[in-house]
Order: sequence, then C-alpha cells, then structure tokens
Amino acid sequence: MTTLAPSSVDLHCHSTASDGLLSPAGLVAYAAERGVMTIGLTDHDSTSGVADAIETGRQHGIKIVPGVELSAEIASLQAHILGYFIDPDSASLQGEFAWMNESRRERVERICANLNAAGITIDATEVLALAGNGTVGRPHVARVLIANGYASSISDAFDRFLTRGKPGYALSEKITPEGAIGAINRAGGVAVLAHPWSTKNPRAAVERLAPAGLTGLECYYGEYTPDVRSDLAALAAEFGLIATGGSDFHGKGVKSTDLGGVVVPPEAVEALRAAADQIRTQAAS
Ligand code: AMP
Ligand code: FE
Ligand code: FE
Ligand code: ZN
Repeated sequence: MTTLAPSSVDLHCHSTASDGLLSPAGLVAYAAERGVMTIGLTDHDSTSGVADAIETGRQHGIKIVPGVELSAEIASLQAHILGYFIDPDSASLQGEFAWMNESRRERVERICANLNAAGITIDATEVLALAGNGTVGRPHVARVLIANGYASSISDAFDRFLTRGKPGYALSEKITPEGAIGAINRAGGVAVLAHPWSTKNPRAAVERLAPAGLTGLECYYGEYTPDVRSDLAALAAEFGLIATGGSDFHGKGVKSTDLGGVVVPPEAVEALRAAADQIRTQAAS
C-alpha cells in the first residue's frame, strides 16, 4: 500500500459489479474516506454498478465518471479498453455485455472442469454464486481455490492455477479492440487503452488503435514505474491521445496500489468529457 497522500482523481477501479471486493456504494464511501474526489468506475464488461455509485457519490460529494473496462484481445494478448462518459444504459452496450458475460460463465465451467481433471476440487456453481449478478472472472475462481485450501492469496492462485500453461487457464471468445472502441463510441463514450504494456508493445497497439478511434492512453498506472509512465505520456502526446491513469483498485490489499494511489492529472477528466461530448455531437449530426 502506498503511503503518499492519495490523488484526488482515480479513473480505474472495480466493484462487486465485476471482480472487485467492495460494493459500488462501499467503493465510493472508501473514496470519500481517502479523499479521492473523482472516480471512474470501470467494471469489467458491465455498468451495473454505475447507478449505485452515482447515488452514493451524491451523498458523499464524490464525482463518478460512468465507465467500463472491456476485455479485448490482440493476438491472444490482453488489450483492455476502458470507456468513459458512456451511457450506462445504452442498449447496444448492454447487448455486448450479454454475450461477453455468457462467454465468461461458460469459460468458468471449463476452467473448473479442467481443474477437476487435474485433481483439484472446485465447483463452478460456487464460483458463479460468488460473482452473483456481477461479471464473473478468474479472481472469483481464485477466491474459491483459497477457500478450498489450494492457494494462499489471489496472486498465488493465479500463479499456480490460472495463468497460461496452468491447468485452470482457458480462453474465451473476446471482442476485438476495434470492436470495443466502436461499442464504447456508440454508447456515447470515449475509449482509452488500459495498462498498455499488457499488449507487450504499446507503440504498435497505439499505431493500430489510434486510427480506429482511440481517445486516450492509461499512462499513470499503479503498477508502472515513473520512467514507464513518462514514456507512455510521451507516446500519448505523440499521437494526440489524452493521458489518463488510475490504480486498478480491486479491494484493499488485492494489489499494491491503493485507491487514489497514482497521481492522475485532474485535467484528464475534463478532456475526456469534452471528447465524449464531441462524439455525441457527431453522432447526432
Ligand atoms: P479475467 O477477466 O477472468 O480474465 O481475469 C482477469 C482479472 O484477474 C484482472 O482484471 C485482475 O483483476 C485479475 N488478475 C489478473 N492477473 C492477476 C494476478 N497475477 N494476480 C491477481 N489478480 C490478477
Ligand atoms: Fe479485474
Ligand atoms: Fe485490466
Ligand atoms: Zn481493471
């Protein structure tokens, strides 16, 4: 956990609407406690937490940027696309969430079957129940593995069972990054490439996705060193992308970066809002 004073803006965090540990209301209350005055709620493949977050935000004086993080892939590398200032109720976005979440549930069944075949006792029903109405993912599998005594922490469960080459790794159908950008734009929002090093080649990803309508690059990311962050900010400037950032908070102690643990330029929020306004104006004309 960082000991620096928290940043006033955090544009990347998760709630129980996906694989976070705090409810949307609990997350916003925690932001208030930490003095993080603006948060982007970016649950995986879901906006079901946004309404509660906005409601609780009103009570605590915390601004909520309605967001999402779509799991896309480039040649089997992660390309997570963040969407900001989206309409959380957009019918086209909800249509994408429906198949994405069905594909995730089906993947959990396969993951559990593969783990069972490897002699590890885990019941997919329990994993799905843990996710409840939220987007299910490997972190839920990890938590059941911990409960069953197979792992000591979420990262231990990932290392031993859930990453590529391990018995509990399974692929699922994913949207393309261009498809994700289009879906976000159709919902009136702007698209940002999350944790760009997950693609292994941020420059190549930006060269491909900037012409497809990418608006921003997540430069100030919790797990990145100051050098990596400034290199990414230079890349963003070169392509005219908005430099954003956030902690990717999933709950206290899940990752080393706490909520508000990354310094994010506050002007990024208004720049994203203005870009989203422009997209909606273009769509209306
Ligand atoms: P999934 O959406 O099912 O592919 O799971 C990806 C999610 O798992 C990410 O959003 C993180 O929350 C979490 N995750 C990925 N790798 C790790 C890791 N090594 N340790 C802990 N959590 C991880
Ligand atoms: Fe996650
Ligand atoms: Fe991500
Ligand atoms: Zn995330």
